[in-house]
Amino acid sequence: MLPEAVAIVMAPTDKTRSCGIFRLSDPGGMNILKECRETGYHPHREPGDGSPIYEHCSNVYINPNLRLEICDLR
Ligand SMILES: [Zn+2]
Repeated sequence: MLPEAVAIVMAPTDKTRSCGIFRLSDPGGMNILKECRETGYHPHREPGDGSPIYEHCSNVYINPNLRLEICDLR
C-alpha cells in the first residue's frame, strides 16, 4: 500500500497484452485493496465509479542497456 511499492504480477489469462507495468488506480483501485480483508489469491471487484482497478504506467521507460530501470516521472 506504499506509493513506491513494486510488484511483479502475471495475468496469463489477459489476452490484451503479454506483459506490462501497471499501478493501482488512485483512488479507485487503492480503495478496493484498502477495504479487502481476504487472504490468498482472489479476484477483486471493479471500483463503483466505473474506473479500472489498475492502469498502465505510461510514464515508465525500460532501458534495454540495463537489467531493469524504472523512472517515475511524477
Ligand atoms: Zn483482496
